[in-house]
Amino acid sequence: MTSTTTSYPDTRLLIANEWVDAASGKTIDVINPATGKPIGKVAHAGIADLDRALAAAQAGFEKWRKTPANERAIIMRKAAGLLRERAGDIGRILTQEQGKPYVEARGEATAGADIIEWFADEGRRLYGRIVPSRNLNASQLVMKEAIGPVAAFTPWNFPINQIVRKIGAALASGCSFLCKAPEETPASPAALMQCFVDAGIPPGVVGLVYGDPAEISGYLIPHPIIRKVTFTGSTPVGKQLASLAGLHMKRATMELGGHAPVIVAADADITLAVKAAGAAKFRNAGQVCISPTRFLVHNSIRAEFAKALTTQTERLKLGDGLTEGTTLGPLANARRIGAMDKILADARKAGAKVLTGGERVGTDGNFFAPTVLDEVPLEADVFNNEPFGPIAAIRGFDSLEEAIAEANRLPYGLAGYAFTQSIKNAHMLAQQVEVGMLWINQPAAPTPEMPFGGVKDSGYGSEGGPEAMEGYVVTKAVSIMAA
Ligand code: NAD
Repeated sequence: MTSTTTSYPDTRLLIANEWVDAASGKTIDVINPATGKPIGKVAHAGIADLDRALAAAQAGFEKWRKTPANERAIIMRKAAGLLRERAGDIGRILTQEQGKPYVEARGEATAGADIIEWFADEGRRLYGRIVPSRNLNASQLVMKEAIGPVAAFTPWNFPINQIVRKIGAALASGCSFLCKAPEETPASPAALMQCFVDAGIPPGVVGLVYGDPAEISGYLIPHPIIRKVTFTGSTPVGKQLASLAGLHMKRATMELGGHAPVIVAADADITLAVKAAGAAKFRNAGQVCISPTRFLVHNSIRAEFAKALTTQTERLKLGDGLTEGTTLGPLANARRIGAMDKILADARKAGAKVLTGGERVGTDGNFFAPTVLDEVPLEADVFNNEPFGPIAAIRGFDSLEEAIAEANRLPYGLAGYAFTQSIKNAHMLAQQVEVGMLWINQPAAPTPEMPFGGVKDSGYGSEGGPEAMEGYVVTKAVSIMAA
């Protein structure tokens, strides 16, 4: 796999298992972030298209909710198998529209298959309860039922993964699923949905639209057909959508921004910490909600850690994700370059030291050099707002209590990392760091069987483990008295 030229498909809307143009014929250009050039088009849905997609989602729900869980699982497993089979082709599409190295893109598709399979099986275990009755002639049942058609809004950083975490739980629970996927990376989500269509999912159970995000969310969330809203993206947008969902009494799952602390204790294995957190930092060019962002390193080892992280970072190979050997791709869109420039200017002004990187590379495409900052003052923007890019920011601490206080200082609470060889420290960190997910002595390992989600401004609800299913079901208490 050395070629950088490969075909890229245009994307249409998926309504009732048919791929259709927008009624208006409107489209949006798709840009390859490695070249800055258009590579294709995606259909731009208007209200008439959304109305058709909603009607299909309602019809799909009526059929799917009455499909036994084991039959749903068979179709989901078949779709997962197709996704795995097609991972190579889908990976090439994904890299062209999003930028990440091909190996990461193909891996996203195969990991997606794993997630869908796990949820397929979880749907077969969506147990209710039988509760002992106070009257021996009565049976009391607690039933779990699919909540209804779901509106999902997913972002461009993991075009496949962000959908499968939602669609897996939704379909396994018996919901239909209408997704507004990212306009910037539309073709890999379409290839994912094609797997479900080819697996024999009934029409309307899955749907896919693109367009103006605010117009689509403003129409779908209040719509009476939609019973559940799920969003992944930034905290400000999440708060808007959660408010709208609240106003219309819709259940919501919000997977929002983070600012993950990495606490490297004095007794940490430094080699492991650099390898694990450094690799996690630059995966997908740092455009990851659980990306390590605030490196809090004990002052006794800070210089050694910073040097080793810099050496490791300088070994990364920046380039087109389809070029063999690339380990760091371009940023997914031109907005991120502007954001990185702003963060760097602010960090320099605040007095941070740039150990490596710190600037854009070339002018074709959105390449930004992987960057390590040291001695970052607390007031620097990079230590307060999610950088969402290839920037590691280091700051020293003297006591673990101080590091934990800094980890908890921000309103975010999505992921956290820590490195220590002491069980006592590990327990203290596990109990006191305010995050939804904490990885100790390892990079992020978000498996489908573990909960995935945040606390505080990072959102609510889970996209992993049995907890994920709770977001897609309603509870019905039924008492049957023998007549
Ligand atoms: P943004 O805040 O404008 O958009 C973030 C996502 O929300 C995009 O996918 C966008 O299409 C969607 N969106 C925006 N407004 C919407 C609306 N009214 N209704 C429905 N969807 C809407 O910012 P951006 O420039 O695309 O991304 C930058 C920031 O977003 C990053 O700094 C990061 O914090 C956050 N982000 C987070 C994730 C994540 O995995 N949690 C993913 C992508 C972006």
